Amino acid sequence: MVNKKISKNDAKEKITNFFENIRRKTPAEIKKIKRLAANQKISLKNEKKLFCSSCLTPFSGGEKIRIKNGFLTTTCRTCGTIKRVKLKK
Ligand SMILES: [Zn+2]
Repeated sequence: MVNKKISKNDAKEKITNFFENIRRKTPAEIKKIKRLAANQKISLKNEKKLFCSSCLTPFSGGEKIRIKNGFLTTTCRTCGTIKRVKLKK
């Protein structure tokens, strides 16, 4: 039997590499990497800001971004979901 499980460090590296090229990824690939992160109990804290949580489309940088009341809001161009991220002070 071949052990297909990868270590947590391998998974982290894979995730880091993945998000370096996030703009070229597809929603299906993002879904996969999310599953990998969940399996390894790795939180995608910063990475979550890089794609739409609803349709998993990577943000290309052309989204409507606004800062209001200490929140950064990004509107997804594909599904229109508004993502709010609290800004650090
Ligand atoms: Zn979306």
